Amino acid sequence: MLRKDGVPLIFEMGSPGRRACSLPEADVPPADIPAHLRREKPPRLPEVSEVELVRHFTALSNLNFGVDTGFYPLGSCTMKYNPKVDEAVARLPGLAGIHPYLPGEAVQGALQIIYELERYLAEIAGMARVTMQPAAGAHGELTGIFLIRAYHEKRGNPRRKILVPDSAHGTNPATAAMAGYEVVSLPSDRRGGIDVRALEKALDGDVAGLMLTNPNTLGLFDENIHVITEAVHRAGGLLYYDGANANAIMGYSRPGDMGFDVVHFNLHKTFATPHGGGGPGAGPVGVKEDLVPFLPVPLVERREGRYHLDYDRPDSIGRVRSFYGNFGVLVKAYAYIRSLGAPGLKQVSGDAVLAANYVMQHLKPYFDLPYDRPCMHEFVLSGKRQKDAFGVRTLDMAKRLLDYGFHPPTVYFPLIVEEAMMIEPTETESVETLDAFIAAMAAIAREAAEDPAKVHAAPHTTAFGRLDETRAARQPDLRWRPEGEQRV
Ligand SMILES: *Cc1c(COP(=O)(O)O)cnc(C)c1O
Repeated sequence: MLRKDGVPLIFEMGSPGRRACSLPEADVPPADIPAHLRREKPPRLPEVSEVELVRHFTALSNLNFGVDTGFYPLGSCTMKYNPKVDEAVARLPGLAGIHPYLPGEAVQGALQIIYELERYLAEIAGMARVTMQPAAGAHGELTGIFLIRAYHEKRGNPRRKILVPDSAHGTNPATAAMAGYEVVSLPSDRRGGIDVRALEKALDGDVAGLMLTNPNTLGLFDENIHVITEAVHRAGGLLYYDGANANAIMGYSRPGDMGFDVVHFNLHKTFATPHGGGGPGAGPVGVKEDLVPFLPVPLVERREGRYHLDYDRPDSIGRVRSFYGNFGVLVKAYAYIRSLGAPGLKQVSGDAVLAANYVMQHLKPYFDLPYDRPCMHEFVLSGKRQKDAFGVRTLDMAKRLLDYGFHPPTVYFPLIVEEAMMIEPTETESVETLDAFIAAMAAIAREAAEDPAKVHAAPHTTAFGRLDETRAARQPDLRWRPEGEQRV
């Protein structure tokens, strides 16, 4: 099986007996492995030389798209460039080589990093304390809702409902449902914020809380944020801030000051860990004073200049993850915050918002913009005009962007925008890159009108064309099999 791009599978290369390394003759007697544990035939492994091996995997890596190779405006995901210095710090042997079972006395430096990172994140969020345990955004949400439940339970009634706006990320309603709550969806108003009247109607003594993303998935800062938080508090509910979009607000506004009680960060969006690819992330959760007793154990505390792990927390919801969270990701966030400082973080958010507004203004003539007001770090266009006039859909235009060398934006999300294209340029791109992206989008809008067939058939330049995404998700076939071996 030869692929369209001519890169064969590694199993199809090399020749029998060829090796990528040379090992000395064994100078110990062979171990006596019982016959029933031994293979009858040697395994069919690739047999290639070292240089074939290196070239093969380098060629494969070049088929992939990454932030190191190009612009990646995948909305909601903050696919910004992450400074290499933060990776270098996380790899320092004294940090990368320690084991979580080491006693606190032996890893004072690691505990200090967790302790100080907690203070930095608490300051950025306007919260009292932060747990580092959750391993992702959705995991942070679940932790946060457990904290809200524990808070209400302590007062005698966990309540039954969680309110979620219809623009929410899918993880919000999923989290509330997993934590045993009934999910009540709130409509958006014409300006893209929460419909405050619908909120007031939905509020009663059974509402445990509201989960809100701000800026929301339309890239809009809710204009009624204080009205919303005050109304929920008046009804005895708590406010959960989905901080996945923190890249828009650092140093400008704080969830705590807006009136929120719980917030999660995605360190793998905002704080220097690459997002995607299935690598480790972290979703630290910050809370106001009232919720501190319920935080997961352990927390890092400091006494007389020494750091220790505090497990003595009787109201804690317990652990939500092994050990102390994804430590390597925490180190990168720590290095990122220390290297930028407060003014640097503020500039990150300012530049991210500036870049998004720049691209939005330049694309406005070519596409529908359903919520036409200044955006934060991202914005949402609609491909409705192209669909209605030429039968060219957002998916077609997204695929065509690949031919221009750009990763497509997030498409068909948020659900409240027809043919949505959600564009997040981030702060790390030069104005030349933004201009090149704008030119490509404008060219595609022209092609949609003049040569729709070309856009329908895109991409034309990638190793693979369009995959059957449903089949890929439902029947993933990830393993190579020698000829004749059946899939089971
Ligand atoms: C990314 C994202 C999440 C989920 O975060 P994960 O780390 O992928 O679990 C939640 N809410 C919003 C708004 C997001 O963009």
